[in-house]
Amino acid sequence: MIRVNENYLKLQSSYLFSEISGRIAAFREAHPAREIIKLGIGDVTCALPAACIAAFHHAVTEMGDERTFRGYGPEQGYEFLREKIAMHDYKEHGADITPDEIFISDGAKCDVGNIQELFAEDVVVAVPDPVYPVYVDTNVMAGRSGNWKDTGYKGLVYLESTEDNGYVPVIPDEKVDLIYLCFPNNPTGATISRDKLQEWVAYADKNKALIIYDAAYVAFIKDQTLPHSIFEIQGAKEVAIEIRSFSKTAGFTGTRCAYTVVPKACNAYTRSGTAVPLHKLWLRRQTTKFNGVSYPVQRAAEAVFSSEGKKQVKILIDYYMHNADLIKRRFSELGYLCAGGDNSPYIWIKANMASWDFFSLLLEKAGVVSTPGSGFGKCGEGYVRISAFNSHENVEKALYKISDVLS
Ligand code: PLP
Repeated sequence: MIRVNENYLKLQSSYLFSEISGRIAAFREAHPAREIIKLGIGDVTCALPAACIAAFHHAVTEMGDERTFRGYGPEQGYEFLREKIAMHDYKEHGADITPDEIFISDGAKCDVGNIQELFAEDVVVAVPDPVYPVYVDTNVMAGRSGNWKDTGYKGLVYLESTEDNGYVPVIPDEKVDLIYLCFPNNPTGATISRDKLQEWVAYADKNKALIIYDAAYVAFIKDQTLPHSIFEIQGAKEVAIEIRSFSKTAGFTGTRCAYTVVPKACNAYTRSGTAVPLHKLWLRRQTTKFNGVSYPVQRAAEAVFSSEGKKQVKILIDYYMHNADLIKRRFSELGYLCAGGDNSPYIWIKANMASWDFFSLLLEKAGVVSTPGSGFGKCGEGYVRISAFNSHENVEKALYKISDVLS
């Protein structure tokens, strides 16, 4: 008898985005003439930078010529891309990461989901609340939680991110082994200071724990006093893995390219306490289960680091951050408490009512789609997330309508 992995049966149906789609469909049916502006999902809207497109085209042409054609590439990613990442994303920020510590992949979501395979089934997992759901669900699938009860899975430690702590979770009293941190944060848009990040690194070091640092939104950091990478923090290379993506940085959500940094100094431990380098395990995992990202996509990603690419990426980020600024300013003027938006494309708005009620108010009265904070966890109740990923015209129109409704 083939039995299922019953851990999958513990999963709560991912009802957030399907519920949002259902409500939009119902609204559309009831009001076919009304315009709907989507500031809900975290997908980019601008085209790829011209430098990426040129590199992409050139690489596709190479693939059409026997003399320059390439078959399977290295599972870890081409060195030309890993070298650029090590130089521009790390060395230039004072973090000593070498190209062979970088693993190219087809998405941060896959890496975030796959990395937990390296750890024992009984490690204690700590996740932020509100949370990017992939951290939670992949650990539930792997059997690291009990059943769902009320507002969370038994056995997981939820790190509350609230107005009181500036949406940066405090160090837990109990001992946890695997810690997920995400800054700039999805969904709150919060950032973490060097001092606070240092505290987490010290906790991980003291408890032989490991931090998975998700920096998918690093490109949106404007405040140069904030850390861009956990590896800017002393001692982090021994206790952290960092995951980044070209998705939000350069519009690669549909093109797919990301990377994970596993420093050679970073260990996990056997039951008897022997240190095992995680770099070796992740290399083994990737070479066994992954065959690399396509050559043209890696060339397109490499172009992000060219001087033209850097300028074009900055224009792209500035474009969205202009929206973030408008959204945050308008909601603040309307008297709402807002977090995020300064170094992140997300604005986290205190609704002063239940999340879904505010969602419905914005949809029905203004025709604007937001994301109810309650869909990201217990601490998200009473908030909505508004995304800056849209055109200036749509954001201005949405804010005009929202002002009308809320003032
Ligand atoms: N990590 C966070 C926090 C995200 O919000 C997202 C996407 O929305 C991802 C990772 C996934 O990125 P990718 O497109 O590289 O899979």
